[in-house]
Amino acid sequence: MKAAVYYAPEKVKLEKIPIPKIKEEEVLVRVKVALTCGTDRKLYLRGHPLFSPPFILGHEFAGEIVKVGEKVKKFKKRMRVVAANSAPCHHCFYCKIGKEELCENFFIRLSGAFAEYINIPKPIIKDNLFEIPEGISYQEAAFLEPLACVIHGIEESEIKLGDTVVINGAGPIGLLFLQLAKLQGARVIIVDLSKERLSLAHKLGADEILNINQLKDEVKTVKNLTLGKRGVDIAIEAAGIPKVWESTIAMVRRGGKAILFGGCPPKTAIKIDTEDFHYGELTIKGIFHHTPDYTRKAFNLIGQKVIDTNSLITAQYSLGEIKKVLKKIITREGLKFAIIP
Ligand SMILES: [Zn+2]
Ligand SMILES: [Zn+2]
Repeated sequence: MKAAVYYAPEKVKLEKIPIPKIKEEEVLVRVKVALTCGTDRKLYLRGHPLFSPPFILGHEFAGEIVKVGEKVKKFKKRMRVVAANSAPCHHCFYCKIGKEELCENFFIRLSGAFAEYINIPKPIIKDNLFEIPEGISYQEAAFLEPLACVIHGIEESEIKLGDTVVINGAGPIGLLFLQLAKLQGARVIIVDLSKERLSLAHKLGADEILNINQLKDEVKTVKNLTLGKRGVDIAIEAAGIPKVWESTIAMVRRGGKAILFGGCPPKTAIKIDTEDFHYGELTIKGIFHHTPDYTRKAFNLIGQKVIDTNSLITAQYSLGEIKKVLKKIITREGLKFAIIP
């Protein structure tokens, strides 16, 4: 089969490799669509501490089951399926206290989807493999993982009806946050530096769009748009830039909450005004990954067709064009790309 194999930072080769052999508790899926994601960009540029090369890139995908291990009961050949990229162990300290996203024995697999076939291991079959309902395309279903992460952020934000929410970053994640915040009944301000992303944000329901390139002081501008210029009830960071983490926190009103979602480069730090934090009773919350409960919710929302995911796909490419696609993600051209092997 054809696969995009990662060897070293910025070294990915399109290769012919054997189709994965499955064990008796696994299934083999013919990948119908795989999506690019911010994590792929990080992986491509600097590798990953959890994965030693060579490995196949890609972790957001949907496809058709072509082979089923003897011990697999729930899934059958020709089923259309989507899988999340991890599964918790269910017995470590964090799993027991209900923080499965922090599982100490996380079975996590951030690779394998930029290929014609992928095997689905047992822990993921158990928790995070779903049959795609009729009327939902492979491409729509493939949003399962990013949507589950964003649902995690939204649930922890505890947005209330009528809240004013700012989202810093109008990439695919920011635009998913936007749609979910609107579903929660919030008024949403979204900040970015790309005209195209902001106009898409407007189309997807943003109440205010702000281009950071045209602002002297984005914190002040956002605060001026809130009741009594106090600041927003909830501020969400979806850019992964330490400076933006700081401005996100600064946009929150007293008693409000900042959700820090975008992962920053290693060994970076931020500054927080201790007075604002203490006397303002701010809540600052880091959000990472998802749990089986969040993937289940994401699966339901995709099935209900209440989220516009198709607008977040800039273009479709074949697997043969993978190098072109990687170049585009490096230069941050477009939002998300669908790869059709
Ligand atoms: Zn992803
Ligand atoms: Zn665990």
